[in-house]
Amino acid sequence: MNLKSWNSNALVEGLKVRVQTERKIMSEIIFLIQEIDKRRVYLEHGVTSLFAFLTDVIGYSGSAAGEINLSHVSLLVQGIRQKESDGCVKATSEQKHEILEKIKSKPIERGEVILAKELDLQLKAYDVCHRQKNESLRAEMTFTEDEMAEIKRAQNLVSHQIQNPRLSELFMYLVRDQLKRKDPKNRKITAASAVRQSGTNKPSRYINSSTNTTLHKRDQSCRWKDPKTEKICGSTFQLQRDHIVPIWAGGTNDLENLQLLCGVHNRLKYRLETNSTFTSDYRTEYIFTHAS
Ligand SMILES: [Zn+2]
Repeated sequence: MNLKSWNSNALVEGLKVRVQTERKIMSEIIFLIQEIDKRRVYLEHGVTSLFAFLTDVIGYSGSAAGEINLSHVSLLVQGIRQKESDGCVKATSEQKHEILEKIKSKPIERGEVILAKELDLQLKAYDVCHRQKNESLRAEMTFTEDEMAEIKRAQNLVSHQIQNPRLSELFMYLVRDQLKRKDPKNRKITAASAVRQSGTNKPSRYINSSTNTTLHKRDQSCRWKDPKTEKICGSTFQLQRDHIVPIWAGGTNDLENLQLLCGVHNRLKYRLETNSTFTSDYRTEYIFTHAS
């Protein structure tokens, strides 16, 4: 294109026309990508994501098409898909352009936030855990801005114990602290220590062996009843004895106050009972459904 002979007007008009054309083409590109995404056409090409398809198969480089970054187009397309699958109205191409303008030069995480705001989407909250080769676990978690602020505060508090704790260090510190205080394992009272304690005014958790045998014969499996569906669990895995009304809440060692629970439900019940945030109503309902 030799522009030497173009006058100013021609240059401006020429630019206008091309910008309009670019927008039109971009609309069509987004439209095509949307359809490809919807039909998951990329799977036919041996790639598992839209982004991999666009870069590897189409040869679209990350920063091609002017300033518009392909990852932003992918982001937009997926956001719109989420929006439409929620049963909402389709975004017009004008809206698509507006959003693209807003996210195009932003880092992708920021783009996600803007997109969520523009399209009124829930930010995807998912936790991903991958088992790594060395048996360690890699976890991805999603936090809101408010949650991040709380994390920062916890990080500051913990920094007296650990200098500049990484997220995983903070997490493990809190886990250990919780276990130290709440894990029944750390409170396990052996039969011998229960006998020793019987002279004190602490209630004993000791259960004689005939009660134990009767309990196992009676229950045979986990008696956990789902509060909503009323379904009995029935699992025989890691069966544990449970006080229906906990000793600390005035429960007794009588057979009527005992039940078998699988490991999972015993821990769940313990969590519910020790979680100070749950309401007394729930506690009542909970004990009620389990006493019946
Ligand atoms: Zn169970």
